[in-house]
Amino acid sequence: MDEDYIFCEVSFEHSYSRYTYIADSDDYEIGDLVVVPVGKDNEEKIAQIETINYLPAEEAPYPIQKTKHIIRKFDEDTDDFGTPPIIASIDEAIGKVKRITNSVKQGRTAYWIQKTHLFRADEYICSACRATYGELYSICPSCGAYMKKSKYDPSWVDEMEDMLAFLDDDW
Ligand SMILES: [Zn+2]
Repeated sequence: MDEDYIFCEVSFEHSYSRYTYIADSDDYEIGDLVVVPVGKDNEEKIAQIETINYLPAEEAPYPIQKTKHIIRKFDEDTDDFGTPPIIASIDEAIGKVKRITNSVKQGRTAYWIQKTHLFRADEYICSACRATYGELYSICPSCGAYMKKSKYDPSWVDEMEDMLAFLDDDW
């Protein structure tokens, strides 16, 4: 009896289409980033595995001889494709760094608003962007504002009370 073939549907960035490749080993998992040959020049590109199906040759979705094979798992340490594979999150990260850099350049300041809970740890809310954290940072990790107060500042409690008067009760 012939062994089943492992057919993987993969997707590429910026494309909703899926393409079928054959996996030569069973150590691939759905979600893995892999390197596959693309086009008539078999240019190596990064794709993500969407589905994995074990099928006998007679049920192959495409002719076996015409179906290309996955080359290897993508390895971010050794595979250099010029651009990182996950563009969206990189852009997001760059956007965040720019926002923080701008805030720091502008010397924007803010303060942590302490939100006390009865049954779980306190949270601290950035007065500038309302990001919430479980600990106090000297610069808000979300908007980059310099934080003027810490909870160890003796004036904190008084200012907290003043501040609370201005805030909604919805938190
Ligand atoms: Zn902030």
